Amino acid sequence: MKSVILSLHEKLINQTVTAEALASGLFAKMKQDQNPIFITKTEDAALSVARKVDKKIQNGEPIGLLEGIPMSLKDNLSTDGIRTTCGSKMLADYLPIYDAHAWELLKKEGAVLLGKTNLDEFGMGSSGETSYFGTVFHPMDANKVAGGSSSGAAAAVLSGYGAYALGTDTGGSVRQPAAFCGLVGLKPTYGAVSRRGLIAYASSLDQIGILAQTVTDAALVFDAIAKKDEKDDTSVGRTKKTMDARTFGLHGKVIGIPEETRQGLPEETAKALDAAVDRYRALGAEIRILSMPELSLALPVYYILASAEAASNLGRYDGIRFGHRADCSGTLTEQIIKNRSEGFGAEVKRRILLGNFVLSKGYYDDYYRKAQLLRRSIRKAFADLFGKVDLLLTPVTDTAAFARGFALENAVDTYRTDRYNIAVNLAGLPAVTVPCGYQKDGLPFAHQLIAPAFAEEVLLSAAYAFEEAANGVYQTHLREVTT
Ligand code: GLN
Repeated sequence: MKSVILSLHEKLINQTVTAEALASGLFAKMKQDQNPIFITKTEDAALSVARKVDKKIQNGEPIGLLEGIPMSLKDNLSTDGIRTTCGSKMLADYLPIYDAHAWELLKKEGAVLLGKTNLDEFGMGSSGETSYFGTVFHPMDANKVAGGSSSGAAAAVLSGYGAYALGTDTGGSVRQPAAFCGLVGLKPTYGAVSRRGLIAYASSLDQIGILAQTVTDAALVFDAIAKKDEKDDTSVGRTKKTMDARTFGLHGKVIGIPEETRQGLPEETAKALDAAVDRYRALGAEIRILSMPELSLALPVYYILASAEAASNLGRYDGIRFGHRADCSGTLTEQIIKNRSEGFGAEVKRRILLGNFVLSKGYYDDYYRKAQLLRRSIRKAFADLFGKVDLLLTPVTDTAAFARGFALENAVDTYRTDRYNIAVNLAGLPAVTVPCGYQKDGLPFAHQLIAPAFAEEVLLSAAYAFEEAANGVYQTHLREVTT
């Protein structure tokens, strides 16, 4: 699969297309589209950056690989002077005064920002349906969702609105929508990309990630944003370039499959995964079936810790310091209650209640403390497995994209659909989704590879080998990024 970024770069420097024509062509298409993929479009700024890039090219100056390339940002990533809503009424009018570090880096590279993409409110959800700004539907089937919480990011990349999108992954929110839309979704190691300017949901789990049509595109963008940031204490950055390691292949690599992730899978899903495993074997990898009983702990541990952190992170939205201010002539307490009642949607309120409950006196030891201890055993289980294998392979979800309405009606069943993804966040590991089939309904399906911390080059070289061997057969649904 040819990288979208590299193909566009060639077209720009050969002057087959101008950056301005490319961006304005995409805005024209976006205007015809009923899908609420973007909460805010940034047309004027995009065209002005594009024109500057075109001028450089016309003057014979060299340009960088990401320069003039259209892309988008999930709307929980801060953009200086550009509305950043987190998909919430609470922040419907919020204008940040600084850029997220990842965006600061891409902006310097001359990236053309098309706009801010829709998401589940504060990243809480798996279907895009908890957004205050309407539900993004699956670009291939309007009755299905595009996944979540990075719903708009996935739909944008599948629809050809930009070569890549930055999303965020606290518990699968880059990987699951990427899988539903048949994209490559990279969730980096915790600390590889700075979280500065990512509006916090659960700080110990949140990580910025990349959605793209190909592995090469994800690698290019990852290398650009995985830089140490002095202003984020958890930022480590990375020095090795994944782009250089992309073609290393799989010879001598051992891929482990936790048997627990294969139990009870629908037949179609199991078949697609088996075919992916066969392909890895054919590429020279050794496959080993392992056991990881700790995986069954991940779901309750995640929902306890994520909700606890959310309850404390979202305390600042009282309508006084930050957020929606309701009409109210009562006391300060009444005012705050009204601000928060009006500003937050049902799912966010559920998480805040759950989070405050597990943190409260009398329940703290039974829930929060216990969850912290179990988180440690999940981390250790991964560390032990990575003593034996180079990578792990798991499903992303049991099925392809689910129907609209399912998540809203079945909160707990929806939480359960996250079970293959959240252990990765609890352990801070990097993982990538790679498309590996289409289900009967025609919708794409993907598998997930997980690597040890900071081994993104191993992860992406395996994903790249798989993608090359598949030769585009799982990527036929993708729409071209073109005028
Ligand atoms: N479904 C997960 C949740 O609601 C996804 C979180 C995420 O990665 N932002 O918590």
